[in-house]
Amino acid sequence: MARYTGSVCKLCRREGTKLFLKGDRCLSGKCAIEKHPSVPGQHGNGRKNVKEYGVQFREKQKAKRYYGVLENQFKGYFEKAEKTEGVAGENLLNLLERRFDNVIYRIGLANSRKEARQLVTHGHFRLNGKKVNIPSLIVRAGDVITLREESRSSEKFKALIESLDSHITPKWIELDKGQVVAKVAALPQRDDVDFPFEEHLIVELYSKN
Ligand code: SF4
Repeated sequence: MARYTGSVCKLCRREGTKLFLKGDRCLSGKCAIEKHPSVPGQHGNGRKNVKEYGVQFREKQKAKRYYGVLENQFKGYFEKAEKTEGVAGENLLNLLERRFDNVIYRIGLANSRKEARQLVTHGHFRLNGKKVNIPSLIVRAGDVITLREESRSSEKFKALIESLDSHITPKWIELDKGQVVAKVAALPQRDDVDFPFEEHLIVELYSKN
């Protein structure tokens, strides 16, 4: 499966905002965007007067990068969102939030979406009792996510489980921190997305094509 392998901090600097792609480092003074807030490249600070298309394009890039999704897959989500009843932009964010790797990150069983994707691929989790290794799987209301018994004793998961006490789980996910069992209590709503996307810009962008 194709994936981005370059510097993730560069992506934040390109978008001019923190996309929280590196776990704890993003909250520390080591965050690259705090140290070097300019856009990478020698003409970084000169990119002004961005036209309408540019603004819409950047918003789409921001969402893609935030959720770690490549172009074709992102467009596929948009097409699905457009066909679904309701507001296309909100449907798009709903699908992205419901990706299995995002859910693992939101539960607190990974420090970043990138790490969540890796842990899912390595088969550490079960969905409704079955082993799952597909990060792009879309969860549904009522789904139950568990950590495989064999994985619980690893140092990595011991530390993650310990940190669950201070982790805030979104309201659409019910988490039993002791048992490490999470249930998708409801589908995420627009206000459950914890990043200030202007998703209407993404809809406008794709609607032109
Ligand atoms: Fe982005 Fe995190 Fe890197 Fe800061 S540390 S630039 S928020 S990925």
